[in-house]
Amino acid sequence: MTIAPPDTPSLNLGLLWTNPFADLGEDFYVPLQPTPLPAPYWVGRSAQVASDMGLTPEWLESPDLLHALSGNRPIEGSQALASVYSGHQFGVWAGQLGDGRAILLGETSGHEVQLKGAGLTPFSRMGDGRAVLRSSIREFLCSEAMHGLRIPTSRALCVTGSDAPVRRETMETAAVVTRLAPSFIRFGHFEHFCHHDQHAQLKQLADYVIDRYYPACRASDLLNGNPYANLLQAVTGRTAKMVAQWQAIGFCHGVMNTDNMSILGLTIDYGPFQFLDGFDPGHVCNHSDHQGRYAFNKQPNVAYWNLHALGHALLPLMDEQALAIAALETYKTAYSAAFDRCMSIKLGFSEANDDVHALTGEILRLLTVERVDYTIFWRRLSHWVKSRENSPLEADTAVRDLFMDRAGIDPWLLQYSELLAQVPRGLASDLMLSNNPKYVLRNHLGEMAIQAAKAKDFSVVAQLLQVLEHPFDEHPRFESFAAFPPDWADSISISCSS
Ligand code: AMP
Ligand code: MG
Repeated sequence: MTIAPPDTPSLNLGLLWTNPFADLGEDFYVPLQPTPLPAPYWVGRSAQVASDMGLTPEWLESPDLLHALSGNRPIEGSQALASVYSGHQFGVWAGQLGDGRAILLGETSGHEVQLKGAGLTPFSRMGDGRAVLRSSIREFLCSEAMHGLRIPTSRALCVTGSDAPVRRETMETAAVVTRLAPSFIRFGHFEHFCHHDQHAQLKQLADYVIDRYYPACRASDLLNGNPYANLLQAVTGRTAKMVAQWQAIGFCHGVMNTDNMSILGLTIDYGPFQFLDGFDPGHVCNHSDHQGRYAFNKQPNVAYWNLHALGHALLPLMDEQALAIAALETYKTAYSAAFDRCMSIKLGFSEANDDVHALTGEILRLLTVERVDYTIFWRRLSHWVKSRENSPLEADTAVRDLFMDRAGIDPWLLQYSELLAQVPRGLASDLMLSNNPKYVLRNHLGEMAIQAAKAKDFSVVAQLLQVLEHPFDEHPRFESFAAFPPDWADSISISCSS
């Protein structure tokens, strides 16, 4: 056992820390220290994130950092706390939730740094304050995969593990994810103070978010100059874009409760997420979601529902409800425009138009009918376009081979080629190959990394990280990570339990 005693001197990482969230005052959080994790070891580390934080690569080899990020040693300049929030879970008001296992250390280089799984807090409710190795590896890899895909997300510096047992459906082991975001404030933070009629705190929080992250909301005279209505509209815009990117890439979040919705429009709180294999719009990735509330194709509507919950929470700061309604109303256009734009780019067009819109609708229908592998389809289509640019008469059959029913795909390809003919040679395939990833974190890849890590082999975590950081590039050594999922992929069951 190498648990540091409580009076262990704090570790100086040579970073400049500030604690602006702590400065909000103790209505917003409870100060506390992480609970030590026995005999920790490194499971995964991102040199890219270390560098973004201003940490030199040597720190990632340091046992001192390993201990500090496992909760065994305080970090100089940090001011650890757990914040309070509430929220709607599965459409129902859940009351007070809060950071039940995530401890905020403070802010450095523009990133809030949290240790997720670092022990009990006053908001742990029935939980144990811990996170298991399995879900921590998934969060670590997916954060970096989403970043590689240019989708707004929290980041992850590392996962540290321990043999300390943690009880879920079966006995598992503990891990801590060090995760970063400009802010981890959620819709649920606002709902909390509105619900408790703490309007002064609600305003303080909204002002904090506007001043730090949305300063234009104060300057602009949009929506009668009400900065809070402007904030709602700005969050609506960012959320719409984020969800449009999820839909275009085939990402299912799985638990879009309002406490898992970032006020900055970032993908946060990775749980039972899944990148689609075969295209199934109704796919439900969370095995605890019996009603299918968070099915893939429901995500855009759920985001809108969640934004209404945020709008309701911000109402005490607006003179008229009409302001909130007007701000929320922008979602439909913002979402459709963002989705159309993402899909146009996937098809190799820099601008959306009606023809491209129709083409998108039809290909999604064809993919659905045959449950075609979503990622492989777009990558093969990109190569099909490239091959035609190089030798127009030689057909690359790989994309066509994905469909049993050629009577559907052939006319579509013909219509598509006619539109492509209007784009300068080379432009479409370049755009497609840099926007249709070859690699996504499919469930079975995560599972392979988890099984190896359980046997103390962390090489698959490292390999996947390396590939997923650059998902649009070719990685000849890791061709197998781009293959169709194996048959056993369907039997992986991912629930809320993490
Ligand atoms: P999630 O849906 O995983 O984001 O979790 C919802 C709420 O439950 C959040 O407030 C979490 O902090 C809390 N929570 C989840 N798992 C645990 C756990 N093992 N121990 C303590 N709190 C937890
Ligand atoms: Mg959460």
